[in-house]
Amino acid sequence: MTATADKQTEHPSITLLKDLVKRPSVTPEDAGCQDILAARLAPIGFDCETMHFGDVTNLWARRGDTGPVLCFAGHTDVVPPGAADAWDTDPFEPVTKRELLFGRGSADMKSGLAAMIVALEDFVARQPDHEGSLAVLITSDEEGRARDGTLKVIEALEKRGEHIDWCVLGEPSSQDELGDVVRIGRRGSLSGILTVHGVQGHVAYPQLADNPIGRFAPILAELHTVEWDRGNAYFPPTSFQAVEIRAGADFPNVTPGELSARFNFRYSTEWDHESLKARVRSIFDAHDIDYELDWHLSGEPFLTEPGILSDAVCRAIAEQTGRQPGLSTGGGTSDGRFISPAGADVVELGPVNASIHKVNEHVRIDDVVTLTAMYRRIMEILLT
Ligand SMILES: [Zn+2]
Repeated sequence: MTATADKQTEHPSITLLKDLVKRPSVTPEDAGCQDILAARLAPIGFDCETMHFGDVTNLWARRGDTGPVLCFAGHTDVVPPGAADAWDTDPFEPVTKRELLFGRGSADMKSGLAAMIVALEDFVARQPDHEGSLAVLITSDEEGRARDGTLKVIEALEKRGEHIDWCVLGEPSSQDELGDVVRIGRRGSLSGILTVHGVQGHVAYPQLADNPIGRFAPILAELHTVEWDRGNAYFPPTSFQAVEIRAGADFPNVTPGELSARFNFRYSTEWDHESLKARVRSIFDAHDIDYELDWHLSGEPFLTEPGILSDAVCRAIAEQTGRQPGLSTGGGTSDGRFISPAGADVVELGPVNASIHKVNEHVRIDDVVTLTAMYRRIMEILLT
């Protein structure tokens, strides 16, 4: 190991990251991570408030009582490591090898948490009288059901009139190199759970039966071929995918009496869930079919139009790395879906996501140190 690499592994962000990785905070467990973070924030002037909803622990911390409010957000929970023997090292024992640090949650997203806490300490030490307020919103319910986490904290804040202006989520947004991609929004995700009712019968006497497969087939074809939209400046076109279709009477000369199916839309800001549902219903209702359709909304699409926050984030990245990040709305959903509707601008900036949720999850040690500097610069640009 080189002398510089040695120095980096002793960086406060790396020390804190190791402490967090050691905690087996498999969703929705926090495993004491938020206590570690609160114990760092309280001495630098944050009011720390633990919010329990269901079996989920959340942390809301704020320094200052004026606007604008710049919030750093993230989650302490991780996905299960899977079979431990598939890993080269213990998933909950942080191990540094060459320039990498291994462990479950090292990339998603305990390095983001460690970088933001140390960046906050650095910034407050230099600018104790900064403008506006700093805030930290941490949940342990992001990887699981996400019902008692950020969603509930935002509801509680709204109830008492607290408002976030700018939010930096430390999710692993980068693709190949730190800061090459930041997310300024996410597509919506809406699932349909369908039942088609028919009449079971003899395959040779279709006039006496009503085959739900035949009823649904032309609708499925239409759902697949309709141009939902062409996307827009920030979103790819809306996509429809059937994920499951079941029908059958378990006998070769019997037609089924019922069909069930599940499908999912990843949709752009050309729709909201109500308009998209109405469009789907209009397709079904144009056919002669007896059906029930239930919905599950995972999240509306959201977008932070390029502006003050994304400019600050891009500038911080350019200063630290020389990179001009791509602004993306790709990937799955994130807790930004709960923060954005309350009126906050939300940008996601974090380490490379290539190993997240996989065995041997890891992060580049240098990237955590650089990310810390980026977060500090974002505060300097926005609050001084
Ligand atoms: Zn995550």
